[in-house]
Amino acid sequence: MKHSTHRLTGFTLLELLIAAAIVALLCAIALVNFQHAKGRANQARCAANLKAIAYALYAYKLDLNRYPLADGTAGLGESMGQTSPGNGPAANGSWDGVPRVLVRLGYLGSEQYLFCPTFRERFKGDRLQRFRYAYNNSAADTGGTIGAPNDVDRDAHDIWLARCLWVPPESSFTPQANDVTYPHGEDHDRENVLMSNSRVELRDGRQDFRKAFGISAN
Ligand SMILES: [Zn+2]
Repeated sequence: MKHSTHRLTGFTLLELLIAAAIVALLCAIALVNFQHAKGRANQARCAANLKAIAYALYAYKLDLNRYPLADGTAGLGESMGQTSPGNGPAANGSWDGVPRVLVRLGYLGSEQYLFCPTFRERFKGDRLQRFRYAYNNSAADTGGTIGAPNDVDRDAHDIWLARCLWVPPESSFTPQANDVTYPHGEDHDRENVLMSNSRVELRDGRQDFRKAFGISAN
């Protein structure tokens, strides 16, 4: 009797260690899968935001015959006009942002559409206000790529209206190409971009950045 009780309850230390190692491995696999799934969900929600912005801009233009001016200053108020460098509403202060007038006039149902869900998770309050979607108003009204003015019809495939533009808070507002990282894609090396033809694309922002500033790839 005593002998059989011992056999029923007995695990060796080695068996326990193996079991613990297997559980730890399964947890690690589950965590990686969860993080990938979360990344894909954020990317899809970000793309949906940009789609909503596309419809809002289109509706605004139908009503008022032009696109709205970009907001130039980060914060909770409207600030249509030029970006004040370092205090812009997009990409940590470096860029114009999608204007809040779209929310005030009801073209966007909520200010949540103004921010990538990835940034909403990372930044709160005043810091979040520096990460609104960037808005390329010069392209919207006069044509333009990231760099010089351009022709809307001729270059329609390569003109962006809004993008999930990311500059890390610790870098200056005139970052070098290597300072810039992006919130989407499997390796966090892509960003969602709303093109002037209303398509939302996952773009290689690093490549666009180099092109805009005439930096050769290395
Ligand atoms: Zn995004």
